[in-house]
Amino acid sequence: MFDKILIANRGEIALRVVRACREMGIASVAVHSTVDADAMHVRMADEAICIGPPSSALSYLSFPAIISACEITGAQAIHPGYGFLSENAAFVQALEDHELTFIGPTAEHIRMMGDKITAKDTMKALGVPCVPGSDGGVPTLEDARRVAEEIGYPVIIKATAGGGGRGMKVAKSAAEIERAFQTARSESKAAFGNDEVYIEKYLTTPRHIEIQVFGDGKGKAVHLAERDCSLQRRHQKVLEEAPGPVITPELRDRIGKVCADAVAKINYIGAGTIEFLFENDEFYFIEMNTRLQVEHPVTEAIFGVDLVREQIRVAAGLPMSFGQEDLSIRGHAIEVRINAERLPNFSPCPGTITQYHAPGGLGVRMDSALYDGYRIPSNYDSLIAKLIVHGRDRPEALSRLARALGELIVDGVDTTIPLFHALLQEPAILSGDYNIHWLEHWLEQNLQQA
Ligand code: ADP
Repeated sequence: MFDKILIANRGEIALRVVRACREMGIASVAVHSTVDADAMHVRMADEAICIGPPSSALSYLSFPAIISACEITGAQAIHPGYGFLSENAAFVQALEDHELTFIGPTAEHIRMMGDKITAKDTMKALGVPCVPGSDGGVPTLEDARRVAEEIGYPVIIKATAGGGGRGMKVAKSAAEIERAFQTARSESKAAFGNDEVYIEKYLTTPRHIEIQVFGDGKGKAVHLAERDCSLQRRHQKVLEEAPGPVITPELRDRIGKVCADAVAKINYIGAGTIEFLFENDEFYFIEMNTRLQVEHPVTEAIFGVDLVREQIRVAAGLPMSFGQEDLSIRGHAIEVRINAERLPNFSPCPGTITQYHAPGGLGVRMDSALYDGYRIPSNYDSLIAKLIVHGRDRPEALSRLARALGELIVDGVDTTIPLFHALLQEPAILSGDYNIHWLEHWLEQNLQQA
C-alpha cells in the first residue's frame, strides 16, 4: 500500500479523497493555487504545496507543477478526483515515466473512451447496446444527409472529441441538417481543435441512466447498479438518484451484467461509468467516463461501500474488497448539486460565505469544502456542496432531503438551494416521472430567465 498520496484537485472532491486516505492510514498531500491557499482541502490534508497561480492551466492542469510536487513531498501515487487531469491520457503517461502511480485507469483505456467513435465501436463489439447512428465519423454534408435519411429524423450531430455538452446539435428535419452539421463542426473545432462529428438518432424523451462499474485490472469486474441523472440543465446534471425510479430488478441485472462483462473483457481497472439513454425499456450507450463521478455518493449510500478506498486499493495492486455477490441495494439515495449561482440565469456568484451551517442527522451526508468566512474564488467551477440523503425508500429519501435542505444555511452568496426547495413541491419529482427535458421546460415556465 502507498504511504503517501497526492491529490491533484481542489474543493469538495479533494476533501473527499483526504478523508479516504486518513481512514486508510495513508498520508495525504494537497496541492493548491495561490488563490486557494486558505481552502479547506489545504487545511485538512497532512501536507500542502502551492503549485502555481489561479489559472488552472498553470496550476491544477500543469504536469510539471504536479509531478514536482510529488517529487518534493515523496508522494507515490496521485488521485485526480474528477475534471482537471482525471481523463488526460498524456498525464497518465507522464506519471508512468516518473514511476508514479495514477489512481485510475490506464492511458490506453482513457484514450479509447475519450474518442467517442472509438468508444462506441468498442462497446458495440463488446455487446453493449448503442444508439443507432453513423458508422464512425461523417466527413461531408452529403454523408450527413444520407445517414440522417437512413436512420430517420430527428437526429443529433455530435463532436467525436466532445464533452460537457459542447459540439452537439439537433436536426428535426432535412431542412435543419445543413445548419446543424456546420454548427456542430465549427463549435467542435473551436472547443476541441477537432471538427470530426458523427450522427445519432435523437431520442425525444429518454432518461439518463448510468451504470457504475468497477474493475481490478486483471479481468474481474462488477457493476454497482444505476444512477438516474435525468434532471439536467444544458446537459449538466442537477440532481441524481439511485436506484433509478423506473429501472426494474430485471432491467438492472441485464444491463449491469452486460456492462460488468464488457469492462472485465478489456481488463479495466478502477471506477468507471457507462452512460446510457433509456427509452421504452431499452438502453442506448452514449459514452463511458473513466473516472470517479461527481454523483458517486448516491451509489456509495445504497451499497455501503467506499469507492475511493476501492480505487486506492486496486491502484496499489490489492484485490477488490467485494464481488458481485456481496453487493445488494439498501434503500434509496438522492444527491443535489449546490452551486454558487444566481437564479434565474444560473450566473456564477463567487463571494465570501458569511454563515455556513451543514445539515446533519440520520441518512444525511454533506460533501463540501465550505466554512464560515470562506471566499469562493471566481476561477473555478461553481459547485460548492453536494447534499446526499439516504432513506429506506424513495419517499423517505425525499422527505429527508426536504428536511436537510431546511437545516442548511449558506449565506453571503446566491446558491441553487431555492431551486431544490421548489422542485420538491413538484408532483413529477415526487413521483419520479421526469426525463432529460423535464427541467428545461419547468425552468422556462417557473423561472423568468433573461
Ligand atoms: P457530453 O460528453 O458532451 O456530456 P454525451 O454524449 O454524454 O455528451 O451527452 C450529454 C447529454 O446530451 C445526454 O445526457 C443527453 O441529455 C443528450 N444526448 C446525447 N445524445 C443524445 C441522443 N442521441 N438523443 C437525445 N439526447 C442526447
